[in-house]
Amino acid sequence: MNRRKFLKKAILFIPAVGLFRRFLKGGEAKGAIPGYDPENRLYGMGVDIEKCIGCGLCIDACKKENNVPREPFFCRTWVERYTITKNGDVIVENIETQKGRSKEKVDEAEILKSFFVPKLCNQCENPPCVQVCPVGATFRTEDGVVLVDSKRCIGCRYCIQACPYGARYLHPETRTADKCTFCYQRIVKGLLPACVEVCPTQARIFGDLKSMASRLVRFKRINKIHVLKPQLNTEPKVYYAGLDGEVR
Ligand code: SF4
Ligand code: SF4
Repeated sequence: MNRRKFLKKAILFIPAVGLFRRFLKGGEAKGAIPGYDPENRLYGMGVDIEKCIGCGLCIDACKKENNVPREPFFCRTWVERYTITKNGDVIVENIETQKGRSKEKVDEAEILKSFFVPKLCNQCENPPCVQVCPVGATFRTEDGVVLVDSKRCIGCRYCIQACPYGARYLHPETRTADKCTFCYQRIVKGLLPACVEVCPTQARIFGDLKSMASRLVRFKRINKIHVLKPQLNTEPKVYYAGLDGEVR
């Protein structure tokens, strides 16, 4: 029996989910700026719907930075185009995969409004993905980022099924769960996530929720903010301004 099969069987006997939950300490954050203390930070992202032009540069930058396969159905971040028609129909399509694309072209005259919604892992405060991981491979850092330890992950897909936002996929090469990490390898060095850095319209805003000086805190203060699926009490840390009520 190989290690993966053995572990899949062994998890049935692990009584307490979260037993192995770990927290990344400051010194463990690879390449972090000197004196980096994760306890003093809490990361989040803002998305300004009115600014997104659906160019997809964020998707490309993310794939390059994080070794995400080029095929369109693998992604850490994606952008959905919403089209709302005058008779109330809501058409949602992924701009890269065209998934959800309507077979019949919607007549321009019938369109009430159309807009883009960038999506990614919400770095939930109460993450269901962490709760279901049987081997503690998915965990939340002290600075509020949900990560996957690929050395521990056994590829059981429980977290992929548990995420209500569809934010995870199984990496075809490593056979482990993968998702957005806010480019953790960059942010601990004081850099922006790749998607935020390339966005030509500054539709994505990254920052530290514990710093009153951060752009994200200002963004939250001056805009009416919504999160996705608030009724699930996952407490997302991706904050949308200008989010239409039809977005799910
Ligand atoms: Fe986990 Fe999904 Fe929340 Fe990300 S969005 S923390 S993958 S439950
Ligand atoms: Fe939207 Fe910015 Fe991404 Fe372009 S780079 S699709 S404007 S979020």
